[in-house]
Amino acid sequence: MTEKQTIIDAMKRNAKDNGYYVCPDQQLFSDLIDGLAKNTARYGYGSCPCRVASGAKKYDVDIICPCEYRDADVNEHGMCYCGLFVNEKIKNNPSQMGPIPERRPQEVIDIVLTAAEKKPSASEEASNQPKPRKKTGAIRVWRCTVCGYLCAREIPPPLCPICKAKAERFEPFIIS
Ligand code: SF4
Repeated sequence: MTEKQTIIDAMKRNAKDNGYYVCPDQQLFSDLIDGLAKNTARYGYGSCPCRVASGAKKYDVDIICPCEYRDADVNEHGMCYCGLFVNEKIKNNPSQMGPIPERRPQEVIDIVLTAAEKKPSASEEASNQPKPRKKTGAIRVWRCTVCGYLCAREIPPPLCPICKAKAERFEPFIIS
């Protein structure tokens, strides 16, 4: 079985298990799977095909497909940021697919790309069609002091998704 078919099967299975559907636009679906395959070959993990990855898994863990933001986006917009996962309504009306706001906090995007010294090029930024979500001011960036994982939330997560350290091991992250 090819790498692409393996990813297709995994995404279809994941969609079914979660009550979603895969992208009804066959060309877009194929392009997104190609992007995932490319990112998997490049980074060793399937980071989101619509976002610029840092290349360091500890910084990109929230955008490994299916990303942390998928469920909220499908709930609110009927589709994930890329459109790889959709709800039944969008599946039956693919013409309703369109850009949705980026739910990944801009603070996290800025910090991980700076930390990884990989600022997106102008063309990469331009290719991310949806506009970044507005800053709310209520979100802080937290760093796991054990493994370095970064996340943006009002309070630290109860457990680090990477090393399972407890919330008290997180500290506010500030770039000096
Ligand atoms: S936005 Fe969609 S394609 Fe991108 S990582 Fe999230 S679930 Fe996967």
